[in-house]
Amino acid sequence: VGCGICIKKCPFDAIDIITLPVEQEFPTHRYGKNGFALYGLPIPVEGKVSGILGPNGIGKSTSVAILSGQLQPNLGGETGDAESWDLILRQYAGTELFDYIKAVSEKGVKVAVKPQYIDGIPKVFKGKVEDLLRRTDETGRLDHYVRELSLENVLEKNVDTLSGGELQRIAFTACLSREADFYFLDEVTPFLDIYQRMAAARLIRELAASRPVMIVEHDLAILDLLADTVHIGYGKPAVFGIITRPKGVRVGINQYLEGFLHEENVRFRDHQVVFETRSHNKTVERETLLSIPSMTKSFPGFTLTIDGGDIRRGEVLGVVGANGIGKSTFANLLAGVYEPDAGSGKMERTLKVAYKPQYIKAGSDATVEELLRAATRRFDTSYYQHEIIEPLMLAPILQSPADTLSGGELQRLAIALCLSQDADLYILDEPSAHLDVEQRMKSVRVIKHFAEGKEVGVLVIDHDMYIIDMLSERLLVFEGEPGNRGAAYGPFGMQDGMNRFLGNLGITFRRDKSGRPRINKVGSFLDRDQKSRGEYYYST
Ligand code: ADP
Ligand code: ADP
Ligand code: MG
Repeated sequence: VGCGICIKKCPFDAIDIITLPVEQEFPTHRYGKNGFALYGLPIPVEGKVSGILGPNGIGKSTSVAILSGQLQPNLGGETGDAESWDLILRQYAGTELFDYIKAVSEKGVKVAVKPQYIDGIPKVFKGKVEDLLRRTDETGRLDHYVRELSLENVLEKNVDTLSGGELQRIAFTACLSREADFYFLDEVTPFLDIYQRMAAARLIRELAASRPVMIVEHDLAILDLLADTVHIGYGKPAVFGIITRPKGVRVGINQYLEGFLHEENVRFRDHQVVFETRSHNKTVERETLLSIPSMTKSFPGFTLTIDGGDIRRGEVLGVVGANGIGKSTFANLLAGVYEPDAGSGKMERTLKVAYKPQYIKAGSDATVEELLRAATRRFDTSYYQHEIIEPLMLAPILQSPADTLSGGELQRLAIALCLSQDADLYILDEPSAHLDVEQRMKSVRVIKHFAEGKEVGVLVIDHDMYIIDMLSERLLVFEGEPGNRGAAYGPFGMQDGMNRFLGNLGITFRRDKSGRPRINKVGSFLDRDQKSRGEYYYST
């Protein structure tokens, strides 16, 4: 098999779209004779944030193991043994990586890592959050991080009682407050709301002024905001991965969405991802599924006020707002799990609701196929295979026990299990968590098709603005003071909804030439101009 670009037979049978560029003929590292092969390496740069953008299983952690000196690469040697540093250095002579690799070979480089999956932290650390964080505070910046990430009330808690969003901010803080030569953050946004995402981005920029930072991130609006350059990782997950040379962050993300790497002349996806510059004014008539009355729901210390509204058949309704503002409480009201306060509005009827919670646990050693078959009688239909199994990429893991799945695999299973139920209304709380970009795009299509095809209502709570934009027909906006009071407004059309939500946040998006939204620097000319015209996201 030959492709014209690659000078030798493709060893991976992946040739239809992926080819190995000539200069990357030799792997950087290969795990054993037929193991995963990594080509190229990302380059840590002083004063810069370098992103790695690519699917899971493409060699990001392997790259970091090499850059931190934990893994001495073997340059793909057949025996799988590490190569001598002499030969490795000769391989990198004259490249931008030479000085860095030399430092690694001489004395080792100290790396602080925020791992991708953090649920293991409570297993290895017992005790109070404050004790854990004081131990990792080698730079004296802990108090600053605690303030910026609103962790004051979390310090007193025990590590094993934290929510996913709290644990994420703790893991992030523990990494940043280490003294290291190089920082690696493997996904920071899962379970964080957009306020917390923006705060994390600010802190990373601050750190990068003095140290190289490398980040893996699948929330592209946030990656765009915080990285200077991106390396794209492509290939065939778990088989081989190629890390490209750095590209400017705007160009890199655009090439990724386009599915075509210009410098490498490689197409790795057969379609482009495009954004609407104007909010779509859907002309389709939609039947009302449920009228929501004005109502309140109070707990000791928290009150949720609902303005009223409706949910329509066939639509995806986006739900945005901070963590702790009452979104899950709202979902429970719709499902009839909670009754509204006495004396406030009453639900005319409660719907049968299928719910995917924000935090998911495997809780079973049944296989993925067993769980899906238990949830639906349609497993063997071509509809189910084409609309659920195939786009959610479940086929390769059907025989895996649920309790062995990675975070991204478990998320795809949880989405499938939710959509397998018979219900009037489907509520997905943060379906993007732990999905890579490719999986997010596919999930968007699955969820939209599902709502339209089954003429059911779908509510999606998410904090990835690109996902909200691609998915939603209308928007429900939560405002208030997290942990104290919340209010739901809308549903609005996308333009009004985004203006309202982003107005609360104080951020605007501009469009680049490809139409992709990019967060404006607050106070910049465009930011002030768009705010004065009330154009926070879409142009009128
Ligand atoms: P990513 O960080 O991009 O998700 P990794 O670098 O963790 O990817 O892994 C890339 C591939 O290498 C995976 O298929 C993984 O199973 C494999 N791999 C990782 N570590 C080892 C190892 N120590 N031995 C054999 N294979 C490994
Ligand atoms: P969100 O989904 O927006 O993150 P939630 O609806 O989960 O927010 O929570 C909003 C607030 O209501 C929080 O302060 C939470 O502690 C409180 N709360 C939620 N459910 C209950 C309950 N059953 N009893 C008491 N307080 C609750
Ligand atoms: Mg919630």
